[in-house]
This record gives sequence, C-alpha cells and structure tokens, in this order.
Amino acid sequence: FEVYGAPIIGNHDEWNGILLIFHDITELKRLEQIRKDFVANVSHELKTPITSIKGFSETLLDGALHDEETLRSFLTIILEESDRLQVLIQELLNLSKMEQQVFVLNRQDVDLIQMLTDISMMLSTRLEEKQLTLDIVGPNQAFIEGDLSRIKQVFINLMSNAVNYTLTGGAIMVCVKEEEDTVIVEIQDNGIGIEPKELPRIFERFYRVDKARSRDSGGTGLGLAIVKHILEVHHGKVKVESTVGVGTTFTVTLYKKLHT
Ligand code: ADP
Repeated sequence: FEVYGAPIIGNHDEWNGILLIFHDITELKRLEQIRKDFVANVSHELKTPITSIKGFSETLLDGALHDEETLRSFLTIILEESDRLQVLIQELLNLSKMEQQVFVLNRQDVDLIQMLTDISMMLSTRLEEKQLTLDIVGPNQAFIEGDLSRIKQVFINLMSNAVNYTLTGGAIMVCVKEEEDTVIVEIQDNGIGIEPKELPRIFERFYRVDKARSRDSGGTGLGLAIVKHILEVHHGKVKVESTVGVGTTFTVTLYKKLHT
C-alpha cells in the first residue's frame, strides 16, 4: 500500500481530523515486475545470438579463415543466428505494435479453410521431413471477419508448434466447426504434450517449457503470446488442453462478425 495523509482543517483553522488515502499498488508492482522481467528476457534473448555471431566471426578472422570446411560451418552458424535475431526482432516489433494499439485492423471476410490449406502447403517440407500427417476436417468454406494477415499469423504459429512438438511419424489434425456466431478451430497433435503446471504459463512472452528443444526448432518463446494478443483484438479466444506423451489441442474461437 501507498499511504497519503492530509489534515482536514475547518473554517476557523481548527483541526477536524486527518484524511488518509490508502492506495493499493499490488497491481502496479506486478505490472512493473512483468516489465522488468520482459526487458531482462529481451536483453538475454538478443545477447545469445550476438555473442555467438561475434565469437565465430572472431575465430574466423583469427586464422580459421583458410580452412574451407570450418569456414562453411562457421558461416552457416552465423547465418542461422542472424536469422534468429531477425525473427526475434520482427516478433518483438509485432507485439509492441499490438500493445500500443497503433495498428489498424484491416477487416475483411476470411475463409479459414482456404487459409489453413495454404498454411499446410507452406509447412509441407517440414511435414515431409518429420513424416507427419496433417489433415484438415470441416466444411468447404468457413468465413470469419478479421485481419487476414494477423489471423494467418495465429494459425501459422499454432500449426508450426504442432509440427515442432510432435515426434517423427506423428499426426496433426485441424478441425473446423461452425457455430451460430462463431467458428471454432481445433489444432490437435499427438506430440510430446505439456505438463499441467506449465500450461498456464505458455502464453507468457518468452516462456518455453524446454528451452533447448524450442531454440533448436527455431522457437523464440513469443509465438503463443502473439496468438493471444491477435485473438484478443479480434474478441476471440484460445484455450489449450494437453497430456504429456499423448498430445495437445489448442482451440481457437473467432466471431463470424466482428463487433467493435
Ligand atoms: P516457441 O517459440 O518456444 O515455440 P511459443 O510461445 O510458441 O514459443 O510456445 C511456448 C512453449 O509452449 C513452447 O516452447 C513449448 O514448450 C510449448 N508448446 C507450444 N505448443 C506446443 C505443442 N503443440 N505441444 C507441446 N508443447 C507446446
């Protein structure tokens, strides 16, 4: 609590009492802590690839430059780490833009079936590499009103996660159901699953259950935070159910007509 005090003085300068204002700052402190953690996390996430880019470049300049094989492998790492930095910075910019609400929702009618099919084509190389099946089940078309590129980002993030966190030979199923006012999309995988105690935290920025695995698969820990944000501005929602070793289902609800 923060406490402010002031005397209450009457018309004849007599003391009538004292006014105390108790201000509950629990929420402010919590937000301040989130902000501090965020800045610390961003700094850490940016530092890691930069340290490695610097380290490998320095080693090359110190002499390893003449060995073609080393040169190739170091340059590959440098390129990969630069890519990571680029994705990270892009995602951070997206998040902060959304938070400042400076972006305008470009409303349009979006066919989710078409969009999900496009994304599955986009993922086809990775699906083949991991011998995963991806099925889309639902009507021929399912329209919602929203910002096409942002909604696409939601499903790219969720479907990429299903690919990343499912073992070779697994199955991903995307089910689309139309309700009266909404369209519901379930992204279901039979992958590694998430422990109950981790579930409430996975939508936080930079939160990753297994940091090493996530980083190897190109993860930044921002994907689900972005999903949540985009859905919030569309008045939609996302929920998750998961069992370790059995699989995970993310359920997204979007309105057919946006009420703003
Ligand atoms: P990342 O870039 O690490 O994938 P996300 O914000 O997209 O970040 O996801 C946060 C964490 O939630 C992931 O690191 C992973 O541990 C967990 N996660 C997300 N989707 C799945 C899934 N389909 N199956 C298992 N774990 C998942």
